[in-house]
Amino acid sequence: MTASEIVPRGRERHLPRVNPVLLVLLALAVVGLLWSTGVLTTLFDISGPRNIVWIDGRVTVVPAGSADGQRLLPAVPVTTTGSYAFEHTGSAGVPVGYDPCVPIRYVTRPVGAPPESDRLIADAVASVQGATGLSFESLGTTDEPLVEDRSPIQPRYGGGWAPVLFAWSDATASPELGGEVVGVGGSDVVPAPRGDGSFLAAGRVLLDAPDLTTILGRPGGYASARAIVTHELAHVVGLDHVDDPTELMAPRAGAVTELGPGDREGLALIGQIACAGS
Ligand SMILES: [Zn+2]
Repeated sequence: MTASEIVPRGRERHLPRVNPVLLVLLALAVVGLLWSTGVLTTLFDISGPRNIVWIDGRVTVVPAGSADGQRLLPAVPVTTTGSYAFEHTGSAGVPVGYDPCVPIRYVTRPVGAPPESDRLIADAVASVQGATGLSFESLGTTDEPLVEDRSPIQPRYGGGWAPVLFAWSDATASPELGGEVVGVGGSDVVPAPRGDGSFLAAGRVLLDAPDLTTILGRPGGYASARAIVTHELAHVVGLDHVDDPTELMAPRAGAVTELGPGDREGLALIGQIACAGS
């Protein structure tokens, strides 16, 4: 059997000619595409080695941020001025905050929560998201146990930093809620995926269920309770107390139930930081 019998006459296959100039241009285009999407950087690690951290007795590679470097929501411009302070600052006074290019995932621990807890948390999240331009994403409920030293990376949540945890407790189970404390909030300061920078991750808002239930039972109590949850979530994203009773970040809950001008200025700046990169 000859080849001419397999490929009948008139239907021979012709391999297309390749123009060498076109080939070089095509190769350059592919390299450019890989470079712009970060694929090449990941493959050859030209941005330097990924940072590692020690968590629960294990060496752990710092989770990467977004490869495309695009914010999820537009940055919020500063339109008000007032008193504000950052929990942590880096070089040139720039606040340490959450990466604006990845969603701030959060979970809610419903055990012991007052009836209006879901609405309180949703309202506080909407308020802080609107003031920072940081995108929050609910992962639903969790049965994560309450421990004093929460692990910032947990297998139950898959890869990446642990989500922000909203949980309810009382002064007996959680001594940090003792005395007049109705809530606490904060985050871990973690290394950037590469280089010297720092970010916030794995935040936690712990709320005193009996205290909040009492407040919710008062006239106008919902606004007061919402202000407390919002205050604690503002701590989570990096805002510190200010000695100014016209701001929500005053250390004692008072008549102010909405974000003040300084709170808004600080939150806008926190949301304007550069992304972590991959
Ligand atoms: Zn506080």
